[in-house]
Amino acid sequence: MDPILRCTVCGATYRGYDKTTCEACGPWGILEVITPPEAQPLEGPGPGIRRFLPMLPIPPGAPLPAPPVGDTPLIEAPRLAAALGLERLRLKDEGRNPSGSFKDRASWVGATLARGRTAACASTGNAASSLAAMTAALGSPSMIFVPRRAPAPKLAQLKVFGATVFRVDGSYDEAYELCTQAIARLGWYDRNAAVNPYLVEGKKTCGLELGEALGMPDEDADWVAVSVGDGCTISAIWKGLREMYALGLLPRLPKLLGVQAAGSPAIFREWMDGGDDGPARAPGASTAETVADSICVGVPRNWRRAVRAVEESGGRMVLVADGEIDAALRNTARLGGVYGEPAAAAAVAGLSRAVKEGHVTGSAVAIITGSGLKDVAGAQRAGGEPIDVPPELGAVIEALERSEA
Ligand SMILES: *Cc1c(COP(=O)(O)O)cnc(C)c1O
Ligand SMILES: [Zn+2]
Repeated sequence: MDPILRCTVCGATYRGYDKTTCEACGPWGILEVITPPEAQPLEGPGPGIRRFLPMLPIPPGAPLPAPPVGDTPLIEAPRLAAALGLERLRLKDEGRNPSGSFKDRASWVGATLARGRTAACASTGNAASSLAAMTAALGSPSMIFVPRRAPAPKLAQLKVFGATVFRVDGSYDEAYELCTQAIARLGWYDRNAAVNPYLVEGKKTCGLELGEALGMPDEDADWVAVSVGDGCTISAIWKGLREMYALGLLPRLPKLLGVQAAGSPAIFREWMDGGDDGPARAPGASTAETVADSICVGVPRNWRRAVRAVEESGGRMVLVADGEIDAALRNTARLGGVYGEPAAAAAVAGLSRAVKEGHVTGSAVAIITGSGLKDVAGAQRAGGEPIDVPPELGAVIEALERSEA
């Protein structure tokens, strides 16, 4: 049976595999897929996201990409917990996904639903590289629009996987607009998670996995920290957690800590304004300038769903400066053993700030949404430069003495 979708603004319902936004509310009427209450994960181990097929809007018999998405580890980080002032901290390392980010969960579903059609998306980088990887796995084409400032490692992935890449001389928001126009004119499959409700279902599998893990005896957590750009990731993780709660597999829901960069605060501001149940609309105007390229979004499409998720959970939002993100990137690696890209480290930066401000206590999980290898220049900026020496032992000794002085 075709999936049912509901408008998050007016409540209108739709059916099918090809809906984007609400016909009555227009482009800001974001739809949500309704999971049948009886849907449950399959019994037994992995492989990854496939275990959740009964809970995903995928037609029976559809070809599925082979690369194993999901089953990412939840890594205990006691030294990082102590440094932040938390009782317990675990890192869910989404950088272990096939293309190195959380976005593989969405693209795995997107590539499947594109069913051989040309799939297109605009992306700060990760959604694009994962779409390129997943469509390549199924042998279908992809068209990608990236902003001028997309990090080189993400661009390299796109080209290697064989995507057609348009580097737009502009911001992510301008790349998004251009992509939307091209999709309308050329009839491509729209893989923009911002408006494609099925992709959020792929992303929710992170929440399903996390819900299962936190549902084990003595494994629950008070907070889950997630960085926020367009708002799909945090909404999706909340949906996954809620579904595990509804199935009785997660006894207690955690609170969400939504983290934005101070230079890209659109959803934070809407949250500060107390959310909104009015008609469909764009978020208030905001800047978009941060070292964390994956959360650099001036016009987030899923702002309302993200604000609602945070409010429903009893959680909060927090802004972090670029310097705090760089410090968190170092600490997550040095104290937590996980190498994340700046947008991933932002979740840890948010926890650090929220603990200091007295808003977060107890135990937490930080979602490390992308690998540090995704933004090598960012990592070099945060990590510093090596010591240059000639190939002579004397120079090494001297350099060591200098660094101790
Ligand atoms: C996309 C992304 C996010 C944020 O997800 P949104 O749905 O845009 O809020 C965070 N971190 C990384 C690494 C991402 O690629
Ligand atoms: Zn509507």
